[in-house]
Amino acid sequence: MLVLVVNCGSSSLKYQVRELEAGADGGTVLASGLIENIGSSRIADHTQALELLAERLEAELEGRTIDAAGHRVVHGGERFSAPVLATNEIIRDIERLVPLAPLHNPAAVLGLRAVQKTWPHLPQICVFDTAFHRTMPEHVWRYAVPEEFYERWGIRRYGFHGTSHDWVTGQAAQFLGVPRERFSCVVAHLGNGASVTAVKDGASYDTSMGYTPLAGLVMGTRTGDLDPSVVTAVLRRDPGMTPERLDAVLNKESGLRAIAGDHDMRAVQEAADRGDERAELALEMAAHRLVKYVGGYHVAVDGAQALVFTAGIGENASAFRARVCGRLGALGVVLDDDANAARSREVRRISAPGSALEVLVVPTDEEQAIAAATAALVAAGTSPA
Ligand code: ADP
Repeated sequence: MLVLVVNCGSSSLKYQVRELEAGADGGTVLASGLIENIGSSRIADHTQALELLAERLEAELEGRTIDAAGHRVVHGGERFSAPVLATNEIIRDIERLVPLAPLHNPAAVLGLRAVQKTWPHLPQICVFDTAFHRTMPEHVWRYAVPEEFYERWGIRRYGFHGTSHDWVTGQAAQFLGVPRERFSCVVAHLGNGASVTAVKDGASYDTSMGYTPLAGLVMGTRTGDLDPSVVTAVLRRDPGMTPERLDAVLNKESGLRAIAGDHDMRAVQEAADRGDERAELALEMAAHRLVKYVGGYHVAVDGAQALVFTAGIGENASAFRARVCGRLGALGVVLDDDANAARSREVRRISAPGSALEVLVVPTDEEQAIAAATAALVAAGTSPA
């Protein structure tokens, strides 16, 4: 089966075509690319981007046709706990969730409609970043705020990066030979955006991102956790500050960037290696925050079997992994320094034989996960409305 995986941004469209069998991981990538500058004079809108994509694919796939499309959708709210076939009603439901994800869901809707226009009979599947976290219990997803916040505005913890956390959990369980439903672990997805998830018996139990992806870890440009009065204090004190501007500051000008002057882990690590004190401070802050979550989640899931690193930093930044694991002695974590330093694209163990927790590096592959979910749903006999 040929599956087109689509990840729509407001001005970009990332795609991949994979060939795979339903029920099987893996598959091969037949085509991939990025269409940028949607909204410019050259590519007016997502429909035009799709026309361009259809032309490209006709050439690249040498006449073979796509069997289904799988879309990454950031916010599924409380409505979606699994991938679904995108009927017109489902697309309208995703539109209704726009207030929860004003930056992300509109693009997904544009992408869904554009694919519909280009290939009217193609089954389309939506895969939600929030869905994996729908298993969190109420005492975890609730914020201790007046009920009205939740009732009127849906303010609660949703969690993100779910497709990655879910995928990585499955890969780690398989690697360790543990049935997924008996596998508990802590997954650290560390990319530009970063989140950590407590997985209990194979399902999400808690996660560091919340109502939005701003919560939790110190990220490339996001603050992560912050005393909420900081927001009201700054709004009160700075006459030029608006909620929109502060939103941008906390999302785009904070995190590693605010402390070290650069959002990119490679650059921050290199600066720290040269003796830059601000870079060193930023790394210590990021590691400390992560360690607090790992310790807390280890307890929350009643003893994790593994700590799993994934995404750009988790998979590649061996010095940062060592910094984090060096602080987990109280949990009995012992790193194998050589295994940690080795570079590989494979699932691998980086803890030493005597370590109380297995420490793994698992490459994430959200496209593959979306393609697999799409193939499975289509094979299960869903047909487009
Ligand atoms: P995104 O959230 O944008 O998908 P990625 O998962 O691609 O992000 O992760 C990007 C981060 O990974 C950047 O901070 C980058 O510096 C870091 N990274 C990538 N390769 C390395 C490396 N070899 N060493 C250290 N950090 C790395």
